[in-house]
Amino acid sequence: MLQKIDHIGIAVHSIAQARIFYEQTLGLHCERIEEVPSQQVRTAFFSLGETKIELLEPMSEDGPITKFLQRQGEGVHHIAYRSNNTAAQLEKAKKAGCRLINTTPITGAGGKQIGFLHPKSTHGVLTEICSTQHPPE
Ligand code: ZN
Repeated sequence: MLQKIDHIGIAVHSIAQARIFYEQTLGLHCERIEEVPSQQVRTAFFSLGETKIELLEPMSEDGPITKFLQRQGEGVHHIAYRSNNTAAQLEKAKKAGCRLINTTPITGAGGKQIGFLHPKSTHGVLTEICSTQHPPE
């Protein structure tokens, strides 16, 4: 079951550059910067109430964020919904005919279980499902 908007992911060329806007203009606080090698991405999280802003900076020339930036430049990359069970949520979407990027959860920033739904099935928005729940042993 979905519980809230967990975060909004924004692709940027440089976290060092982009954080100046988020910190100085918007007054948000950068909680942490974390590298996610599996996605070839460096992330920076800013909290605002229950929702976070996740800046995504590419760590390599051929990762998914590099491709996104080449295709459409900086901007909103994905919306992430918090679920109490990512695996079940992905299964439900699959049954409903949704095209999945991850059919089973992968480990994302903060050790969260995450999975992406393809924008072709979500009216143009790359959609992430995430949960803090650990994968079944
Ligand atoms: Zn995300």
